[in-house]
Amino acid sequence: MRHFMEQAFPLCRSITGNGVRHTLELIAEQLGDVELQRFEVPTGTPVLDWTVPNEWNLVRATLDGPNGPVLDSNDSNLHVVSYSMPVDRTMDLEELRPHLYSLPDQPTAIPYRTSYYRETWGFCLTHEQLEQLEPGDYQVKIDSRLEPGHLTYGEVVLPGVSADELLFTTHICHPSMANDNLSGIAALTEIARLLHTAPGAAERHHTIRILFIPGTIGSITWLARNQENLGKIKAGLVLAGAGDPSPPTFKRSRRSTTRIDLLMERLVAEDGGEIIDYYPYGYDERQFCSPGFDMAVGRLSRSIHGTYPEYHTSLDDLDFICDDTLADTVGLVMRAVDALEHEPRYENQVARGEPQLGRRGLYGAVGGAVNAQSVEMALLWLLSYSDGEYSLVDIARHSEVDIDSLQVAATALVDAGLLKAV
Ligand code: ZN
Repeated sequence: MRHFMEQAFPLCRSITGNGVRHTLELIAEQLGDVELQRFEVPTGTPVLDWTVPNEWNLVRATLDGPNGPVLDSNDSNLHVVSYSMPVDRTMDLEELRPHLYSLPDQPTAIPYRTSYYRETWGFCLTHEQLEQLEPGDYQVKIDSRLEPGHLTYGEVVLPGVSADELLFTTHICHPSMANDNLSGIAALTEIARLLHTAPGAAERHHTIRILFIPGTIGSITWLARNQENLGKIKAGLVLAGAGDPSPPTFKRSRRSTTRIDLLMERLVAEDGGEIIDYYPYGYDERQFCSPGFDMAVGRLSRSIHGTYPEYHTSLDDLDFICDDTLADTVGLVMRAVDALEHEPRYENQVARGEPQLGRRGLYGAVGGAVNAQSVEMALLWLLSYSDGEYSLVDIARHSEVDIDSLQVAATALVDAGLLKAV
């Protein structure tokens, strides 16, 4: 994963353009015999409430001042505001100043700035550099192309024996920054490779769908093009910020108690991590969880974006990545897939309402070695949550009823014909 990140780090990615295409080529190389399908969606295509924008490609951007060269995008692609329009002009410092971005509180960091939907241009530089600029003439040369083209994304499908799907996605639109989000791309590429080669992969129940998409406009484009198939997706995770040194964070889906929520709460808690509620900001989970879709999709990260000083700056470089936490993120997703595949699940056979347990001798009659009261609670929790999605372990954690009681209750309910193993 580190080797992949070293190769992909210098590429000038944005929401469209050749940086994304080159990144997908590197992912495809890493995937070996797993096929990465690539899609090109033309500029102007309506997607939900949005429109696919012009494609942006940067050749090179330089800023030269009265004392010689100041900035060069070849040193860091963060120096150019992403989606800067072409410029070739001389201007004085006062005219230039509104186009310069720095971080006074972090004087050695270059900020990351974008202007996807407003045509403008700009340079990002360290505050130290900014303070050294002297009055005089500056030559602004941004050799970029902002014109009709395509939005590019990649998709991997690992077929399972059923139509039920698990969705994993990550954003591929950030230029030279490591945690946000080369770490997510590297982790998801590795997950695809591992799932493809895992023992029993051919008998996997779920079809695994993996997306490498530009943030926001990419997920909106994908959702717009795949609306008929979304019902197949039983659970999903957005992966982002997967390799900084912090413990994992799971952000719940908007529905907050879906199968992936209960499962990840458990796995992330076991891993010493933190669980946070849904909020309509962040990464692409806010598209997958928007009201019309409201999918069972949560987000797995390490630190929460925006809460660490390296976030969206040149300090988010490869040294910021911790190999152990990146590997741990991959491990969490692999354990999640394993649990989604193998933990016992049941389906309530009574279509509506609570079945009459007393009539079947289930109330107060089951127990023996285990606490009878807890088995009675277990019966109710199982009937309430056995929709074929939640596993016995999910229900145990959510209900705080012990797993032994749940197992006794499950057997009794199966014997009574009220539950069916899925
Ligand atoms: Zn970001």
